[in-house]
Amino acid sequence: MLVRKVFCFEGAHIVRGSVSKKCAMSIHGHSYRAEFLFKCLRLDEAGISADFTILKSALQQAVSLFDHTLLIWRGDKAEYIEAMKSHSDQYIILPVNPSAEQIARALLAFALIATSGVKELGNVEPFSVILHETKTGYAQAFLEDLGDPNMGGALNIKDFEFSPSLREDAANFFANAT
Ligand SMILES: [Zn+2]
Repeated sequence: MLVRKVFCFEGAHIVRGSVSKKCAMSIHGHSYRAEFLFKCLRLDEAGISADFTILKSALQQAVSLFDHTLLIWRGDKAEYIEAMKSHSDQYIILPVNPSAEQIARALLAFALIATSGVKELGNVEPFSVILHETKTGYAQAFLEDLGDPNMGGALNIKDFEFSPSLREDAANFFANAT
């Protein structure tokens, strides 16, 4: 059995190497919809796996870091990275290209951190993230994708660089998720 919590957020990126020149060469935004799917391990006496309010608050902190944030690939041109850092208050520099696939992997990695050790969420475990980039297309990441060399290799959250405006929230997120 799976349970799902959906979040929406706004984000911007360039996807270098994309076949679509529009995606590869122009900064553009998406109204992302992220579906966080959890595997239900057991039901409590009320027939419930997880309180959605607790699930929401655990994930909200992670999603907020991505909302109205410019996503930049660490391997992009230094000139571009520096210009974006100067002109955007909120950005994250990722160790991977910010494609829908990689953002889905990142959100799943963040979901693992967000929910680990939360006593009230002991009956569920992160299973997958579906990231809708448009109304017609999505990428779905599974746990086995997180360390898969064919998917870009291990995604270490410590390799994510947050803009100064996000650093406190990011630090709180990691501190709360222990
Ligand atoms: Zn895009």
